[in-house]
Parts: sequence; structure tokens; C-alpha cells
Amino acid sequence: MKKALKDFNFKNKKVLVRVDFNVPLDGDKVTDDTRIEAALPTIKFLMNEDAKVILMSHLGRPGGKVDEQYRMDPVADKLADLLGREVYKTDDSIGREVEEAIEKMDDGDVLLLENTRFHPGEKGNDPEYAKALASLADVFVNDAFGAAHRAHASTTGVAELLPAVAGFLIQRELEALGRATDNPEKPYTAIIGGAKVSDKMDVIKNIISRADYLLLGGGIANTFLLAKGLEVGDSLVEEDRVELAKDIMDEAAAKGIEVILPDDVVVAREFKADSEYKVVDVDKVSKGWQILDSGGPKTLKKYKDIIEKSKTVTWNGPIGVFEMDQFAKGTMELAKALAESEAYSVVGGGESAAAIKKAGVENEISHVSTGGGASLQFFEGKPLPGIEALDDLEE
Ligand code: ADP
Ligand code: MG
Repeated sequence: MKKALKDFNFKNKKVLVRVDFNVPLDGDKVTDDTRIEAALPTIKFLMNEDAKVILMSHLGRPGGKVDEQYRMDPVADKLADLLGREVYKTDDSIGREVEEAIEKMDDGDVLLLENTRFHPGEKGNDPEYAKALASLADVFVNDAFGAAHRAHASTTGVAELLPAVAGFLIQRELEALGRATDNPEKPYTAIIGGAKVSDKMDVIKNIISRADYLLLGGGIANTFLLAKGLEVGDSLVEEDRVELAKDIMDEAAAKGIEVILPDDVVVAREFKADSEYKVVDVDKVSKGWQILDSGGPKTLKKYKDIIEKSKTVTWNGPIGVFEMDQFAKGTMELAKALAESEAYSVVGGGESAAAIKKAGVENEISHVSTGGGASLQFFEGKPLPGIEALDDLEE
């Protein structure tokens, strides 16, 4: 167990908080403030504890130097709106100007540092940059779940130099993802989709020993269909993963787990939103056609029945090209099935979270992870460096 906010006395302390404010911008406007909202509980808690709240985040990919389009000012404005109070902002994340601004802060004030990725030392986890950041504060709080899989100066570097505890968002993510994967209430169903087998290989390997049902869909299902000797036409496949797909099916069978594949699919002439398309059984896919959605009616019925009898469901990876409406049906129907089910449901992955939003069911899912890459790494059963670096709670 890692130390959390309740394990530290923040009163009158300078608290450096790593948040994930890597939000989409249109010019100088934040177009989606979900990530800022997600950090509010921790920020408000620290304000109420009379701490000096010093926030830092990366934004975009400025490449280790100042890039005007990635300044944090629009984020500071948005945060000020959401908090209904002033948020101070500095033009760098370290140095004299920053130290002076912090000296002027009153207890309960909030200050946002400039984009950490303006310094090459951020991604390089440079000890000098980490030291300069750590010198600004008395204690470090990490609440950037979305960056927890990265060992950067503002995530792991400062955590090694200051007392370091988890914020509410990280705590909530760990509880939800842990509940679904560590000791899931059975039957446990894992749905894995997405574009490529190679992206999801380690997730499948990790989950196969825990799940009762493994439902595959999306581009990765194609390689498994090919491994079963089926014709997949012009579908996206990874020939070099066919053997691996066979091994996985064998390993699953040996463990008494069934790898469940689509029975019917939506095929299209071209990878295009307005392409000619039709629904066919998986043994009727022919040359000149490609599978763009796993969601034929038979497949959806089968997958929904399994979800209905499950007590835990995790989902990572859309089962079709849901960005195009003609090929979104499978993913949308599955999202609705998950929303209707009584199961404890957890969705991880950047595109998967976007699909849940598109289906409009984010409030009916037990937990939609805010971290794309971080949740994937969690599903892979691999440690997250940003979490590992936090202080352990003595038992
Ligand atoms: P996540 O971000 O949730 O982990 P991935 O990044 O692995 O998901 O995959 C998402 C992408 O997979 C989507 O953008 C979707 O268009 C694509 N995809 C799903 N099914 C197919 C398919 N049959 N052929 C090609 N691409 C697909
Ligand atoms: Mg993705």
C-alpha cells in the first residue's frame, strides 16, 4: 500500500502536485476539461488543508524546449474557472521567478508551473531538473495517473527526493483497476479489441490466467481467425503473430478458458467511412473485402449473453473502427451491454474511453480509466514507475 493524502499533514506546507493537465487545446482554449475536473478533489482537499498548492504537468510534445503553443496559460484560466478563484501561473517550472512566486503565496493559494516538457530533463529524468523541482516544496503528491507509466523527472524523479504520496485520482484508479484484475468476482470476462495483436499481446497473456471468458474483437481478432485457418480477405492482419495466436488459444484451452471470436462481422470494400459494406459469417469473408467491425448480430448476441452472466468485466480496445459510424455498431452495442450489466465494469485505453463517451454511457460504467497507456500497462500486470516511487505505508 502506498501513502495517500490522509497519511500526511499538509498544513502550511508547500505541496508540489503532479497532475495530468495534458488536455486538448484549440488555440488558447481548452476543448475538453475532463482531466482538469479529475484533479479537482485533490486540489480542493489541499486548499482546505491550508497548503500552498503548486501544480505541475506536461502538455503536448514540445520536445524539451519552449514552444509557445504548449504554454499552460489556457489551462490555468480553465482551472481558475472551475475553482472559482485565482490561479497563479509562472513562465517556467524552475528557477528564481518560480521561487519568488511561491514565496508570495498564502496558505490555500494555487499556482500552476509552466509545462515541464519545456525542459529536456523532464523526459530524460535528469537528476538536476528533478532536484530543482523538488527544491520548490516540502512534499510531493502524485495525482497524474495518465503519466504514471512514465519514469520522468516530474513523476519518479521528485518522488525520490521528497516525501511522496498518492492523490485521490491515483488512489481511485488503483482501487478500481485492482478490484477488476487482482481478485475479480467471478465469472470474470475480459474483452480485448483494438487494432493490433502486438499492442495487446502482453494484456492477453496477463489476463488469460485470470479470466473465465476472453472475448476478442477488432483488428486483433483477424489474426486469431487466420490462425484458425479462416480466410480474412484484405483485413488488417499480422502474419508474424499467427503462431503466437495459436499458442494463446492452446494455452487458454489448457486452462479451460475459451478464446471467443466473432461469428459474423461487418466487411467493407475499403477502409473508408462511406465504403460499400455488408454483414457476413466469419467463414464467408472473401478477397476484396476487409473486416472493419466485429459486431454482426450473432456475435453481439453471444457477447451480450456472456456479459450478462458476468460479475466482473474489463474492456480494453474497441471491437471495430468505431470512428466511422458504419463500423461503430459493435463497439456501441457492447458499450451499452456493459452499461446495462450488473457486473463491476472497468474500461481502460484511450480509444476505448472515447468509445464509451461516444456511446454516452460513461456514468453507467463502474470505472472508466483516465489513463490510456497507464491502464494498458496495469492490464499487462506490469508495475507503474510513478506509483512504485511513492512512499510505502508502514503496516
Ligand atoms: P485503446 O486505445 O482503447 O487501447 P487501441 O489503440 O488498441 O485501443 O485500438 C483502437 C483502434 O483500433 C481504433 O482506433 C479502431 O479504429 C481500431 N480498430 C478496431 N477494429 C479494427 C479493425 N477491424 N480494423 C482496423 N482497425 C480497427
Ligand atoms: Mg489507443
